[in-house]
Parts: sequence; C-alpha cells; structure tokens
Amino acid sequence: MTQILKLFALGGNEVSPTGGWNAELGRFLVPDIAAQWKRTADTCNLLAEIIHSEPDDLHVVTHGNGPQVGNILLRAEYASAVLHTLPLDICGADSQGGMGYMLTQLAYSLQMLGVRKTVAETIMQVLIDRNDPDLSDPSKFIGPSYSKAEAESKEKEGYRLKLYKKDEKGDELWRRVVGSPVPLDIIEIDVIEANLRAGIIPIAVGGGGIPVYRVEPHLENGCEVYECNYGIRFERPHKKGAQPADVYTGIEAVVDKDLSTSLLGTRLLERARARGEELETELVILTNVDGAKKNYQKPDQQDLRHLTLKEAKAIEREGWFGAGSMAPKVRAAIRFLEGGGRKAIITEVARYHEAVAGAAGTTFEP
Ligand code: ADP
Ligand code: MG
Repeated sequence: MTQILKLFALGGNEVSPTGGWNAELGRFLVPDIAAQWKRTADTCNLLAEIIHSEPDDLHVVTHGNGPQVGNILLRAEYASAVLHTLPLDICGADSQGGMGYMLTQLAYSLQMLGVRKTVAETIMQVLIDRNDPDLSDPSKFIGPSYSKAEAESKEKEGYRLKLYKKDEKGDELWRRVVGSPVPLDIIEIDVIEANLRAGIIPIAVGGGGIPVYRVEPHLENGCEVYECNYGIRFERPHKKGAQPADVYTGIEAVVDKDLSTSLLGTRLLERARARGEELETELVILTNVDGAKKNYQKPDQQDLRHLTLKEAKAIEREGWFGAGSMAPKVRAAIRFLEGGGRKAIITEVARYHEAVAGAAGTTFEP
C-alpha cells in the first residue's frame, strides 16, 4: 500500500497573533506568551481535526519563528547592560524549544478526538553554504513590525530593515532583516524518520532549522583538526583516504521554514524510495493568506487556485510574490514538486479541507 506523508508548515500567524498598532501608546504591541499559547492551541485544535480525518497518513509539523527569534534577539540586546547578548543561532535554538513546547498541545487536542500520539520537537540543524549570497544581502524578516518613522530611527541605531508589507489601512510595515541562506541538507533527518516509524508526530525544522556549515579539516602534525566557533577544536589521527568526519558549526542567520520543510519532505521521500518503500508526499503551507495571488493588494488582485509546476516556474520568474514572504513559499512548492512531491498547497489552516477540494488556497501539482 502506498503511504502518504504530509508535511504541515505553520506560519507565524498560526503560532502567534500579529501585534497591532496601539494609538494610545504610539507603538506596535507585541503578543505576549499567553497570546502565543492561545493561538498555538487554536491551531493545534484545527490540526488535530485534520490529522484525525486522515488516520492512514503520516504527519510532520514544522513552524516558522520570525517574530519569536527576533524578539529573543531584541530582548538580549535590551538586556546587554547586565547580561551577555545572544548570537542568532542560539536564539533560533531557544525558539525551537519554546515553540516546540507550545506545539505539544497538539497531543492534547488529538486525545480529545480519541487519538493518542506522542508529539515531539527535535532541536534541528540544517546545512547551509557559508558563502550564500543572502548572508550579504539579507531577506529574512524577524521580530516585530515598525512604522516607517520607527524604522528610520532603528536604522540610525544600526539595524537593517526592509519594507515587509502594507497593513489593511495601506500603512507601511517595516521589519528587521537578517541573512537567510538556502537549506541544503537536514542534519538530524534520522531522528525524524525514527519518529515517524514509531508513530510519533515530529515537530521538525522549527524556524527553518539552525543554520550550520560543514567544517573542513586541516592537517596538523598528522592530525585532522576541525575548528568550530569559539575556538573549539576536534582532532583525530589522519588516515589517508578516509572520509572526513561530519562536523558542523553555526552561523548567525535564520533559514526560511518553507524551504526547509520542502527539503525535509524531499529527503524523506528519497530515503524511503531508496529502501524500496512506496511513499507519496504532500507539502501544506499554512499561513495568514488564502493562497498566492496575482497582483496582490492591487485592485485587480486574483486568486491562483491551481498551478502546474511549469506555470508556477514561469510566474516565479516574473516576480509576482513578496520577497521573504510569499516568494519563498512558491519556491518551496516548486522545489518540492521537482523533488518528487505529488502536491503542494498554500492556504489558511481553517480552509485546509476546502483547499484540498480545490475551492480555496493555491494547489501546485506536477
Ligand atoms: P508566514 O509567517 O506564514 O511565513 P509570511 O508573512 O512570511 O507568513 O507570508 C505571508 C504573507 O505574504 C501574506 O501575509 C502577504 O502579505 C504576503 N504576500 C506577498 N506577496 C503575496 C502574493 N502575491 N499573494 C499572497 N500573499 C502575498
Ligand atoms: Mg514567512
């Protein structure tokens, strides 16, 4: 029997309400932990219903961390008079812990429907190229939104910001940006595979995974030496012709969770098929907008309900989609299909079933 594996990628909105402009205070309010627990619980209830309705399928949940990782960084910066600051890779790892903890509520929602499954977050790293061009021209939005005026003053403090989007009133929202290298491989994929085989629902590549690059050894007195961050060294006697060890070290960046989820799906498929298993994969990107639009936020905005791989590639080249928001989702969908995935959907979590029926969201098929 062909097994179907679905990867659900949760966007920022699915795990935290968006902050709002508070006219009285004259600044944006950032949703607190209680608000994040509540929104995550609401999403888990919807996800549990989906998982309950597909008892024969395997499910993986992934999540973004843009607002959270930016807030952790900001908190550490504000506290720098009394405490050390935090590098972005550590902020990412911290966010996987906090957000994964909140997402274990999925297990409770499932039990309310009579399904008993363990839900487990794994701290995950993804391989990147330390020369990725995005590291010098950052595109990934993190932390809270700022008005244009606030953004200008933040820029003077040395932050890099870019226009994120316009709100319902048409006012510009700006956010801090950091480098977002393309994910090339999933380091802890064995853990995810083992979870799936044990009937566990893995929460994977949180925040896109912690970006790490491969440390190439150099030779010193007949030893292979691997030099990691903070002067940490690993060494062993060098054997001629032997494979180098797998050693990685972190980089201060944030990987796009849609691209990492797509890659995870592709790798799980390749590995299953290499073992002779019959597996089909689907990528479901759940976000705050019901699919990709043509002429987004223009008077002639149009839904894109169904795109073939060829159509998606053609319009991706035309640049219809917001950099750092919708563009990586469409790119993730394209790569997923190119990697053998049978379907990718971009929709809102509450409209998933409608999207599966073709009446909502955007569906990508080969
Ligand atoms: P997530 O946290 O789910 O990854 P993002 O903010 O990164 O969410 O991406 C979703 C956002 O993409 C939407 O809120 C919308 O403002 C923006 N967007 C940019 N271009 C488009 C488009 N062409 N169609 C739909 N949404 C778009
Ligand atoms: Mg995003």
